[in-house]
Amino acid sequence: MAEWDNEEVEDAYQWVETKLVFKPQVMGWQSALKNGLLEAGVVPYNGFTYLHINGTKIGGTIFDPAGHRHSAANLLAYANPDGIVVYLHALVHKILFTTTREGERPKAYGIVYQDENGVFHKAELAKNAMNEVILSAGAIGSPQLLMMSGVGPKAHLESHRVDTVVLDQPMVGQGMGDNPMNAAIVPSPQPVELSLVQVVGITKFYDFIEGGSGLNVSFNLTHKLFDGMLDLLNQRLRLNIIENAGVVFHKVDGPVSRGYLELRNLNPDDNPSVTFNYYREPEDLKRCVKGLETIIKVINSKAFSKYKYPGVTARELLNVMLGLPINLRPRHETSTFNLTQFCIDTVMTIWHYHGGCQVGRVVDKDYKVLGIDALRVIDGSTFLKSPGTNPQATVMMLGRYMGQRILRERAALREKDSIASPTKDETSICYSSSNKKKI
Ligand SMILES: Cc1cc2nc3c(=O)[nH]c(=O)nc-3n(C[C@H](O)[C@H](O)[C@H](O)COP(=O)(O)OP(=O)(O)OC[C@H]3O[C@@H](n4cnc5c(N)ncnc54)[C@H](O)[C@@H]3O)c2cc1C
Repeated sequence: MAEWDNEEVEDAYQWVETKLVFKPQVMGWQSALKNGLLEAGVVPYNGFTYLHINGTKIGGTIFDPAGHRHSAANLLAYANPDGIVVYLHALVHKILFTTTREGERPKAYGIVYQDENGVFHKAELAKNAMNEVILSAGAIGSPQLLMMSGVGPKAHLESHRVDTVVLDQPMVGQGMGDNPMNAAIVPSPQPVELSLVQVVGITKFYDFIEGGSGLNVSFNLTHKLFDGMLDLLNQRLRLNIIENAGVVFHKVDGPVSRGYLELRNLNPDDNPSVTFNYYREPEDLKRCVKGLETIIKVINSKAFSKYKYPGVTARELLNVMLGLPINLRPRHETSTFNLTQFCIDTVMTIWHYHGGCQVGRVVDKDYKVLGIDALRVIDGSTFLKSPGTNPQATVMMLGRYMGQRILRERAALREKDSIASPTKDETSICYSSSNKKKI
């Protein structure tokens, strides 16, 4: 990890928490999951806490008591409106650099972006020593954009005919990771509340077990892939129409298995190709098996019994997962009896991917891109590992933490050079088009 200042990190977490994190109202299904986890040995009970510590806890949620979801966009309300202009639907195609000559250190001076009408614009930093481009396009977007701008592994960039290789940087796109998830859908004989993750079990192997309830939630987890799934569940489990269900899932926090990202083309609207190598390392697989053994105990627990059909076993529920189109991997008939194979066959993403511009490899501890001036990356692509739950909390904390640092750095520089506070024109980006939309 970067060398963070712990006190400032705590302050930044707390700032985010007070702005958009709530204590969830834990109801029947989540409560049974909590008690099932405790019965299965995921102890102690830690109550409501943001800390990721061994045992079972209630975590924070970004749903307020009225059921409205909050997001990082809400934090804009705390920005100085005179110091920020947000362009909606602006797609960045390229970061611009002052030099591309070998031996000279490149400096970022602007970007090229396309607006919602397809018109291209060039935006340049105003001339001020403190200005810089800050890239926050996420674990998929940031390495992709660096590569499209000529910063990445030279041979790969040349094979895609990137205009100019600005910096041969083999680590861009490397270290891609995703916390692999395996799940069991548990049809319930009685109504369940609609809930997303509230209860979190953190085992002594530091694996994360969570769940969500409500048929829509369960089925939306893997999007439209579940067409026809109800029928299958009904058939396999010999049930009549299933009206209620929950999902219990397990995640390997900070997997050792790592992969890479590569360009497919130079269109920022197209996803690059990402290989996560889920469960390539035996250590990750072992943790998955242990996690599933705990899930089996939870599903079979007395505490959870009223949310599971009495005649249906946890093994049967896992077996059903093998029949569902949740990924494109080949299935092995015996997988339920071989939890290792089950982990491999039914792995899913819970969208906690990270890496690609990691600290120490692509950016330094101040999140400045190594070998380049006036360019930082501040987002999940810089992470060496992602927390087992609520990764966005850490991403938002990082935004606040670095934002505060950069403001302080700028104030110190101004003081040193006795420069007056900048006017808006000196700090903002200069646009080659007047097509601005201010919010
Ligand atoms: C379906 C889903 C559900 C999730 N649920 C949760 C959850 O419940 N709790 C939780 O903690 N985390 C959740 N996550 C994970 C969380 O969203 C991420 O960890 C977090 O958003 C990562 O933040 P980031 O800033 O690194 O990237 P992002 O949030 O992905 O932000 C990157 C932004 O850059 C934009 N961008 C990319 N390329 C370009 C370009 N070329 N030009 C212009 N803009 C560009 C993207 O559109 C995006 O808005 C979920 C993720 C997904 C996909």
